[in-house]
Amino acid sequence: MTNSPVLIAGGGIGGLSLALTLHQIGVPCVVFEASREMKPLGVGINLQPNAIRELMEMGITEAELDQVGVPSREWALVGLNGKEVYSEPRGRFAGYNWPQYAVHRGDFHMLLYRKCMERLGPDSVQLGARITGYTNTNGGVAAHVEHLDGSKGDFQGRLLFGADGIHSVIRAQMHPDQPPIHWGGAVMWRGTVRAKPLRTESSFIGLGTHRHRMVIYPISQVDADGMALINWIAELTMDNADGWQHDGWFRPVEVEDFVHHFDAFRYDWLDVPEMLRNADCSYENPMIDRDPVDTWVDGSVALMGDAAHAMYPTGSNGASQAIIDARVIGAKMLKYGATSDALDAYNDQLCEPVSALILRNRGAGPFGLLNMLDERCGGTFENIDDVISADERQDFMAKYQAAAGFAKDQLNAAPSTIAINQTQEAVSAE
Ligand SMILES: Cc1cc2nc3c(=O)[nH]c(=O)nc-3n(C[C@H](O)[C@H](O)[C@H](O)COP(=O)(O)OP(=O)(O)OC[C@H]3O[C@@H](n4cnc5c(N)ncnc54)[C@H](O)[C@@H]3O)c2cc1C
Repeated sequence: MTNSPVLIAGGGIGGLSLALTLHQIGVPCVVFEASREMKPLGVGINLQPNAIRELMEMGITEAELDQVGVPSREWALVGLNGKEVYSEPRGRFAGYNWPQYAVHRGDFHMLLYRKCMERLGPDSVQLGARITGYTNTNGGVAAHVEHLDGSKGDFQGRLLFGADGIHSVIRAQMHPDQPPIHWGGAVMWRGTVRAKPLRTESSFIGLGTHRHRMVIYPISQVDADGMALINWIAELTMDNADGWQHDGWFRPVEVEDFVHHFDAFRYDWLDVPEMLRNADCSYENPMIDRDPVDTWVDGSVALMGDAAHAMYPTGSNGASQAIIDARVIGAKMLKYGATSDALDAYNDQLCEPVSALILRNRGAGPFGLLNMLDERCGGTFENIDDVISADERQDFMAKYQAAAGFAKDQLNAAPSTIAINQTQEAVSAE
């Protein structure tokens, strides 16, 4: 069993980051991905400086990240009246040693996939291979695999990681009594549009109220015409008493189906309905997460990424946390070997604080400032300092950032999760 590979169920951002990390530390692994082919799916996501640091220490360069996204300069909240509530620089512009990136989820995912193909070889990711369950065995694990042609088999591994996303079958087996997916009533319509980027040309803008808002940020470099690919999320919280009634979780929709909710979002610097009508794609996506579980580990099996901690995207930390999981798992394997002790140590470090983050994001995450604004003045103000003082705004954000694990001073001072000298041999062997 000791020579058998580590098995990874799911070749999303979490699973592929784990494969690249295991390769870097010299641990053989195989990824099983249910999709028939890898395609650049999804729209925009944010990668926080802590995750960018890990990607760079995994050997992914800024030049490569610039091909799939753009370094973020600013994070800003704007009230319903179009006036600024709060803004702060981000990434290197805020003094982090690493940039923050806004990327196209699909292009970034394909970058990770290409890296896996180059470094681990074409057999490292088995496409059309769905994991249906597992059996802990004496000293290892058997993953039950179903292929597209209907054939089934067991694959023996040292360890198995469930990196199979929010609908994880590994998690369902590990926690058979878990409640169904949790929907708090917010619906997001997401898409992209080619347009002139706003403010700093690389600003994340949260506009409106906590229950009725737009999020807008560019996910490409500005082209010669001054245009960029802009990611937008139009979000509305409604009554969720009857649960989610539509089919699917990421279903293509027509802008005309929802644009009326944003008719009033017209300013001298942005006409939201016009921007939405120019969109090149739009999807409907309920804002869902899962109740935290008390452990991510069962014997030789562990959960990671969304399978472990699907959370609301309000804090922009879903993909970043999946990358951090991969690196912490790698660090624990360097200490304990590819053993269940490593899984327990990973679980001990991350399960509790990340579960707290899930609940914190349910409460509005950094958008809580807009909540405060709503409560105090219904979103309309002349001078923001009269409603929420600068100190209070600063203090609120500092607390959120510390809880989310990307407080600047801590991150800049922290040693590498996986020290480069521990991996030099494996890296130079590429
Ligand atoms: C198609 C897609 C589009 C997305 N678009 C966005 C977006 O636009 N914005 C955003 O914020 N987030 C998006 N997300 C979610 C975001 O990528 C994740 O929250 C985050 O990156 C954490 O990734 P993950 O690898 O844990 O999970 P995921 O990204 O969900 O990846 C899970 C992977 O596992 C595979 N899989 C599932 N079940 C099995 C199984 N039984 N056996 C084998 N493989 C399995 C899936 O096909 C998928 O490739 C998207 C996810 C997906 C899958």
